[in-house]
Amino acid sequence: MNHSFQKGHTHPITHIINKIAGIFVSMGFEIMLGPEIETEYYNFDSLNMPKDHPARDMQDTFWIKNKKKTLLRTQTSAMQARYMETHKPPFKIIAVGKVFRNEATDSTHNASFHQIEGLVVGKNINLANLKGTLNYFLHKLFGNNIKTQFRPGYFPFVEPGIEIDMMCFRCGGKGCPTCKQSGWIEILGAGIVHPKVLSNSKINPNKWQGFAFGIGIERLAMLKYDITDVRMFSNGDLRLVNQF
Ligand SMILES: [Zn+2]
Repeated sequence: MNHSFQKGHTHPITHIINKIAGIFVSMGFEIMLGPEIETEYYNFDSLNMPKDHPARDMQDTFWIKNKKKTLLRTQTSAMQARYMETHKPPFKIIAVGKVFRNEATDSTHNASFHQIEGLVVGKNINLANLKGTLNYFLHKLFGNNIKTQFRPGYFPFVEPGIEIDMMCFRCGGKGCPTCKQSGWIEILGAGIVHPKVLSNSKINPNKWQGFAFGIGIERLAMLKYDITDVRMFSNGDLRLVNQF
């Protein structure tokens, strides 16, 4: 009788998370995990997003029925205050996990996806540290030939906020369907931690500064593995998964 078994292997999302986490660990970051069911305080209030803040509308939220002020976390940034309340700076952490948004799905949006949140707090941290760290990370992940640009962006928990684009590797910046003819692809959001976010967690913003960044894993995986529909990662189709 022929007993042959198919060998198991990692899902492409697990694969890229391991790769990304490995790059940050090599730079001295610690890895944190946190709860997927989160309180309103950690998901929003601690991050400078009080109840009437318009930025809350940017993230449609799944609330937990019959449990006051409890939700499925919309961002791994929820880990920032959890960590800062219990640790003294300086530190460098990443928080990895699933996040949830109550929105319609299409080829680039899913109701559940993965993020990696980064948080660095120390003395004299500035935008140059942020740029250096993220450029190093993107070169390690995508190769040394990529080009990046940093431009202003808005996130309530950072000031200033930065969005980072990568020059489209498919057209080399000339414009194509992948980059919507712009020559650039939005990769991640980041910024200098808002002083209020530090003081909310009892860290003195006059003494300590920090930078934070959020990476959408599916987005990076789609670019890296040339996948055009984000829903392919979660529909269980083995034709995709078996390539990894
Ligand atoms: Zn392009």
